[in-house]
Amino acid sequence: MKPRGPRFPIGLDRVSPGAQAPGTTQRPQRPVHEAAADARRRSAPIGLPSGLGLDSVAVRARMVQRLRAQGLLCEPVLQALEQVPRHHFVDPALVAQAYEDTALPIGHGQTISKPSVVARMLALLFEGRSARQRGSLGRVLEIGTGSGYQAALLGVLGTQVISVERLRPLHERARTLLQPLRRANMRLVWADGCQGHPPNAPYDTVIAAAGGEALPQSWLDQMAPGARLVAPLHTRAAGGQVLMVVDRTETDWVRQVHEAVHFVPLKSGLG
Ligand code: SAH
Repeated sequence: MKPRGPRFPIGLDRVSPGAQAPGTTQRPQRPVHEAAADARRRSAPIGLPSGLGLDSVAVRARMVQRLRAQGLLCEPVLQALEQVPRHHFVDPALVAQAYEDTALPIGHGQTISKPSVVARMLALLFEGRSARQRGSLGRVLEIGTGSGYQAALLGVLGTQVISVERLRPLHERARTLLQPLRRANMRLVWADGCQGHPPNAPYDTVIAAAGGEALPQSWLDQMAPGARLVAPLHTRAAGGQVLMVVDRTETDWVRQVHEAVHFVPLKSGLG
């Protein structure tokens, strides 16, 4: 018999939204507030619907190998990328490209970011003081749920994730797609993320997948001391979007400007 190598994309398992394969159980929900629990959660397989076979696992492992070769060496982030099935979040017609390093359309003029950009942003967050100390991104606010892919990664890396999306159809689609991976620590909110999400503030981590001309004051106000924010921002000096990192200290907000990026615009209001 011929040995079965990875058959991607033909053999890539499909996960029907909301479906749970027979004979499987959701992972039990458990309290998560200490570092030991975080480490346990990260090393355990994500609560995937079963039927996600070895084929996509192998393709994902290759994606992670490529990221490592590019110099992305943040282990918790690489582990999360290895666990979360990106193909589950892309349009079925684009599944073959799910593990290429490319942004893909998710409808309504929005895109799921390139894996290398997602990995870079998450790695920058991990370099922040709080995350370094606790080995977790802690309480996370994500602006721009989009497909829900990055929210799923944040669910692995943080203790609690609030993900806000302004476009209702995307919010609802992400809710459906995240159902089978659903963790007790994740909350999706349909709202204008320019206001942040005051009910769960303060946050240890703020990450935005859409960029405006200024960082909304609410994001800065909702950061706990020691928190880190990563977001694209259009600056006149750069003549385009750059990745901004902001650290909140006890008394101040300290900004760093990083490389040029291309994210969809941050828009206010609901859609
Ligand atoms: N992280 C996402 C990428 C989504 S693209 C993923 O993994 O798929 C950016 C998203 O930000 C879009 O869905 C867009 O609708 C959303 N967005 C833009 N402005 C927003 C705002 N003010 N509040 C909430 N979401 C916003």
